[in-house]
Amino acid sequence: KAQGRLVVVSNRVALPKQTATGGLASAMRAAMRERGGLWFGWSGKIGSDTGRLRRVRDDTVEYVTLDLSRLDHDQFYAGFANRALWPLLHYRPDLVDYRREQLEGYLRVNALFADHLVQMLEPDDVIWVHDYHLIPLAARLRARGVKNRIGFFLHTPLPAAALLIGLPRHQALFETLSAYDLVGLHTARDLRALEDYFLHEIGGAMRPGGRLRGPDGRSFRAAVFPISIDTAQVVQSAREATHLDEIAQLETSLQDRALIIGVDRLDYSKGLPERFRAYDHLLEHRPDLHRRISFLQIAPPSRGSVPEYRQIRRELERLAGHINGKYAAPDWVPIRYVNQSFPHSLLTGYYRTARVALITPLRDGMNLVAKEYVACQDPKNPGVLVLSRFAGAAAELGDALLVNPADPAELADALGRALTMPLRERRQRWRAMMDVLEKQDIDAWSKAFLERLTS
Ligand code: UDP
Repeated sequence: KAQGRLVVVSNRVALPKQTATGGLASAMRAAMRERGGLWFGWSGKIGSDTGRLRRVRDDTVEYVTLDLSRLDHDQFYAGFANRALWPLLHYRPDLVDYRREQLEGYLRVNALFADHLVQMLEPDDVIWVHDYHLIPLAARLRARGVKNRIGFFLHTPLPAAALLIGLPRHQALFETLSAYDLVGLHTARDLRALEDYFLHEIGGAMRPGGRLRGPDGRSFRAAVFPISIDTAQVVQSAREATHLDEIAQLETSLQDRALIIGVDRLDYSKGLPERFRAYDHLLEHRPDLHRRISFLQIAPPSRGSVPEYRQIRRELERLAGHINGKYAAPDWVPIRYVNQSFPHSLLTGYYRTARVALITPLRDGMNLVAKEYVACQDPKNPGVLVLSRFAGAAAELGDALLVNPADPAELADALGRALTMPLRERRQRWRAMMDVLEKQDIDAWSKAFLERLTS
């Protein structure tokens, strides 16, 4: 065997019977199938006996999932990961709710993951750990004698070091990154934050050749790998979606009005209230656009067990109601606000129908919706992407209309410009962005990461 298995570890596992929930799951499956593999993570279930494992085999790939106890779930997942780390990593220290017992629960569940994983590993396995739930996992594996190559990819932003050090006991957490062989981030800004943290806050060093050394003496590589989509598949899906009844129904309902679309999990990082206010600003200052546009915001609720998410949901209901109350006519609804999730295949058709995508997170690791929107356009008549400069995707999609989402007037101006952009300019901008997505798709991403990890 030329190379060992690929072992993927992430908080949630996409089981083989589940339709792949996006590019990442299918890319991981493809990489595991090629060399044999194991995908390990939480089952999503809360069980009375923590530690119960379920195993499913699909050809050369084994899926192993673990139930969590109520306490582990509340402290690790709903607690530290989503009420301290998520807001911190998205530049919202004001929302961080740090509790020592939750950090301990987080470290305990990482140790539990390591206990199970150690028993399943073979010496030549290559291990790829995903995301903020599992930062200390490599350190726990090393403590149990694991010598394999271990890589980590952070799917969120990494904020400036000055914010990281605000987290109590930040070292116990972020210092453990040095137990990995490779740490991957989405953008150069995220990488600078990591280097700054290691070099200037915790007494690490830069070694010749560019490896970072932690205060514990272990060194690792850190590099930029912007995640992407399965471009060819998304293009095909958007073409096929033009035949769906739902798309015809949407088009009929629009009556030739230009569709503006937003698609985001209902999360405070996505800049939704700011986006709604900008739309209000546009309608206020551009009465000529009334009745000629319609804004569809799809926002499936997420993490309902975390109070901040219930609060933002109420705020958006209020804002959407306010905007419709102020501008709607008997035959025109300015904003269609939908708290529901849609199958990916149908979304690709909605993206293609939309003249403009309004994607304005305050901070986002990458934002795949932005990339999907571009890939779904009709090359002959492409729509316009209005994109926050603070989405990771902005680093690659410089031909979008880039905006600061905190300024409703700037956002409204960009939206106005997008709605009237001449075909020639739309085509030029679209082509430039599509070139990026055709070269840098999700397979290129996972190959680049794995090659660097194993070289
Ligand atoms: N998505 C979906 N159905 C929905 C809403 C979103 O399939 O109703 C998909 C969307 O097309 C994208 C992903 O979920 O592939 C969201 O990824 P993104 O990076 O934009 O945001 P995240 O939710 O990871 O913060």
